[in-house]
Amino acid sequence: MKVYTESFTFKTRGPIDIIDITDKVEDIVRRSGIRNGVAHIFAPHATGIVVLTEHEEGLLDDLRDLLEKLVPSEGSYRHPSNPHSHLRSVLLPPDKTVPVINGRLSLGTWQSIMFVETDIYPRTRTIIVTVIGE
Ligand code: ZN
Repeated sequence: MKVYTESFTFKTRGPIDIIDITDKVEDIVRRSGIRNGVAHIFAPHATGIVVLTEHEEGLLDDLRDLLEKLVPSEGSYRHPSNPHSHLRSVLLPPDKTVPVINGRLSLGTWQSIMFVETDIYPRTRTIIVTVIGE
C-alpha cells in the first residue's frame, strides 16, 4: 500500500466564496500513481467547508442561503468578529473522502469538489490531499 500527500493553496474573496477544486484534486490523484484506493481532501481551517455538489450558480446561491439560515451572520454570539463563520464549519466539516478507481476520482456526474469560504475576510487557503491505495 502507498500513501501520497500533496497540498495546494489559493485565495478566496471572503464570504461565501465557493471555489471548485475538482481539477486540482484530480491532478494530484494522477501524480500519485495510485490506481485504486481513496483520496482524502482536507482543509486545515476553522472557517472553511469542503462540499460535494453540482457546480451550478443557482445552486451555489441556494447553498449560501442555506448557510445563512442554518447559522445567521447576526446573532447573540460570544466569540468576537466571526462566530457564525466557525459555527458553519462545525456543522459542515472541512473534509471529504472519495474512492479512487482505475486512477480516477469516482465522482458522480453532478458531483464537484468545492471549498466554501465561511470567514468574513478574504483568505489564503490550503487543501491537503492524501491518496491511499495501490
Ligand atoms: Zn474566530
